Amino acid sequence: MHQFIHRACLAVLGLLAAPIATAQDYPATQVTLVVPFAAGGPTDKVARDLAEALRKPLGQTVVVDNVGGAGGTRGAAKVAKAAPDGYTLLLHHIGMSTAQALYRTMPYKVPDDFEFLGMVNDVPMTLIAKPQMAASNYGELVAWLQANKDKANLANAGLGSASHLCGLLFMQAIKTDLVTIPYQGTGPAMQALLGNQVDVMCDQTTNTSSQIAGGAVKAYAVTSSKRLGTPALAKLPTLDELGLKGFNVSIWHGVYAPKGTSKAVLDKVQAALKVALADAEFVKRQEALGAVVVTDARTQPAEHRKFVEAEIAKWTPVIRAAGQYAD
Ligand code: ASP
Repeated sequence: MHQFIHRACLAVLGLLAAPIATAQDYPATQVTLVVPFAAGGPTDKVARDLAEALRKPLGQTVVVDNVGGAGGTRGAAKVAKAAPDGYTLLLHHIGMSTAQALYRTMPYKVPDDFEFLGMVNDVPMTLIAKPQMAASNYGELVAWLQANKDKANLANAGLGSASHLCGLLFMQAIKTDLVTIPYQGTGPAMQALLGNQVDVMCDQTTNTSSQIAGGAVKAYAVTSSKRLGTPALAKLPTLDELGLKGFNVSIWHGVYAPKGTSKAVLDKVQAALKVALADAEFVKRQEALGAVVVTDARTQPAEHRKFVEAEIAKWTPVIRAAGQYAD
């Protein structure tokens, strides 16, 4: 009996002590930041810069793990199902708000299956085409797409990705259905575009600005409501200016942990994220790629969650109206 009580006491102490020790030591080893798209793409680029900016405040290496496929849902599912110990985090974009409207069955729920850590940046997108595209301006591009809709194709990162959303709205606006070609991310899609294997793509400036600046791809417009200040992109008109009234797709990134991660661990990651977002080198690199680092209330977990919920409410009817579903 005495022994039983002794063991029971130890078990209770163990249970109480374990999470405290974990939180105190955190992070005791490297942290993995899952990117739900292929390496070399825009989300990956943001993640690699962020991983570097987080290294100092976290005191550990942050390793980027690219888990592409199914428009970002495969990588997000991996994090939703990971141990809630702070060692597996997710960097995701607007797909956190759009994928559920597109897939009949989803391997996770937003917001229920995640802890919100704060947003990272806002990123506009651009409408670009392969180097061999003959159209020299937006009007010619649309005329060519409409005349060649059975063979013209549009690259994206799968259903639920930002490039899919932007392409979907663009096709709706020009009343032309193109053949869409999904990749594991727009890193590989950009390679296909550069090789003239696909015709057009809508993608974040974090992936397109250096290609546009170097003249490696044809660029026609930005998808935000205002023109951009970045020198390489300032000359591009908005799609709204070009006649697609109200066209405005601007995406954003946020950081997440699996549901059930302890508050003590979340607080540590959030504090490190705050330091990373103020890191001069990180801010400079993001600005050079046309992205704006978040400085407003959305850096706070509660505001981040509210923002994602508002984005779900905003995009779900738009996507449903387009009648696109996947299993
Ligand atoms: N830009 C991609 C998208 O369309 C994602 C990526 O490859 O980072 O969502």
